[in-house]
Amino acid sequence: MNRKLRLLVVEDEAAIRIGLRDVFVFHGYEVETAADGREGLRKALSGTFDLVLLDLMLPGIDGFEICNRIRAQDPEQPIILLTAKTADEDIIQGLTLGADDYVTKPFSVAQLVLRVQAVLRRSRVGMAEQGRLYLGPDVMVDVRSLSGQRGPVALSFTRREVEILQHLHASSERAVSREELLTKVWGYARNLDLETRTVDIHIAKLRRKIESDPSDPRLLVTVRGAGYRLLRD
Ligand code: CA
Repeated sequence: MNRKLRLLVVEDEAAIRIGLRDVFVFHGYEVETAADGREGLRKALSGTFDLVLLDLMLPGIDGFEICNRIRAQDPEQPIILLTAKTADEDIIQGLTLGADDYVTKPFSVAQLVLRVQAVLRRSRVGMAEQGRLYLGPDVMVDVRSLSGQRGPVALSFTRREVEILQHLHASSERAVSREELLTKVWGYARNLDLETRTVDIHIAKLRRKIESDPSDPRLLVTVRGAGYRLLRD
């Protein structure tokens, strides 16, 4: 897949809209823009974008409504919200409507580019391009067939286990907290102690599969006080 990834930027503030277009064009994306809610909704529903950057406060139709309408049509369309508000309710409402992530204005462009890359890696585009994960010198995980190999040993995974590996893999080797895994992989909004145990149990099962010595993990490591980290090689 060598086609350019297509982004839609829905933003009524011209300076931000043009700035984002230029930045993402610079990073190799094909970018289309919309300056109001109606145009944004129409373009977003065309289904031709790999990711939508969506401002919440828009003339015409607001970002919440657009997000809702996109989700009704395509539950998997990657969406990142641009919110001027720091109000938690807005962010929570946006994430409840199914946005993949959000940034609060004023945002760092560099960070937004990283967020876009992370969301795309976890999306169907990322899945198609990264149908396999390679970990360490001898572990391969085939995302679609839920199978893999550790050296000569054949492995099989549950969907959930593969999603955990994908999320950790997409997180660029940073430590990922149990809470984040619960939110992103299980879709839980709240973090109960009981539920974080669920994460630990899955991690232990994964280690028995991908680690040559599960009692001394070298790939899926615990970062004290922070969570889990997946080393790729
Ligand atoms: Ca706006």
